[in-house]
Amino acid sequence: MPASMNGEMQPTIYRFKLGGFEIATILDGKSVRDGLHPAFGGNASADEVHALARANNIDTNRFEHPYIPTLVNTGKELVLFDTGNGALRREHEALKSRLPDGQLVEQMRKAGYRPEDVDVVVSTHGHPDHIGGLTEGGRLVFPNARYVFGAAEFDFWKRGENVSEARKFNRELFMKICVPLADRSTFIKPGDEVVSGITAVDAAGHAPGLMAFHIESEGKRFMITADTCTQYVMAVQRPDWYFAMDDDKDKAVASRKRILDMLAADKLPFVSFHFPFPGIGYVERAGGSYRWVPHSYQLNL
Ligand SMILES: [Zn+2]
Repeated sequence: MPASMNGEMQPTIYRFKLGGFEIATILDGKSVRDGLHPAFGGNASADEVHALARANNIDTNRFEHPYIPTLVNTGKELVLFDTGNGALRREHEALKSRLPDGQLVEQMRKAGYRPEDVDVVVSTHGHPDHIGGLTEGGRLVFPNARYVFGAAEFDFWKRGENVSEARKFNRELFMKICVPLADRSTFIKPGDEVVSGITAVDAAGHAPGLMAFHIESEGKRFMITADTCTQYVMAVQRPDWYFAMDDDKDKAVASRKRILDMLAADKLPFVSFHFPFPGIGYVERAGGSYRWVPHSYQLNL
């Protein structure tokens, strides 16, 4: 009998030590989307985008879009950054074709964490694939946690002024999922600490109050960058190219360049929410721009 075909099998959890902390990146799911252009490079030509794709050995049309929340265990508190898609796909007809079912909780259990163990849930910004796993069927998925939002981000969605047509449904979701959490939440601004060793960094542009986070333990540093760059070739090699889901495109470009510059200058390892799993690596300067260098074993030594 020939061996059976057992289907794809790919890693979904990656954990390493950073000083006295443990950090785990967890794959909540993946989408495959059509239209690399104009999703990326809306201010460039399709030919330019396709040429860059070919030069990097990736498909010129279809692209994989993973979702990677990060857990940081400081030894005192278990801090979750973003909650992925949760049950959004099942609960909202409008999102059926766009988002996968969230696997975060199932994957966390495999890694030895129960949802009740999470002490702090930080939302980098209010887009659906980052807040979707906060609640399910109206109930809190992480029942013992306190919540942390960027003050500017929370304020923007709550006030509901200047919300683009494309983000109207996003605003409804934010009102339903996040606003009821206000009395269990802390609202922070760039420069503030989430817990000792974890500091918010301004990354506004992709979303009005997007935050990245700088982690430091025993002199070791790491960054959680969420959606500053949303594709490992397009956004890194051409940070000036517009990404269709960036709410303020020019501001997103400026933030992207500033953060890429910092990551490259300090040779900082970081995770990016939508990069190929485990989403961890470095950027280096290359030909007037940058290049993504995936992590190999630097953080494991
Ligand atoms: Zn995202």
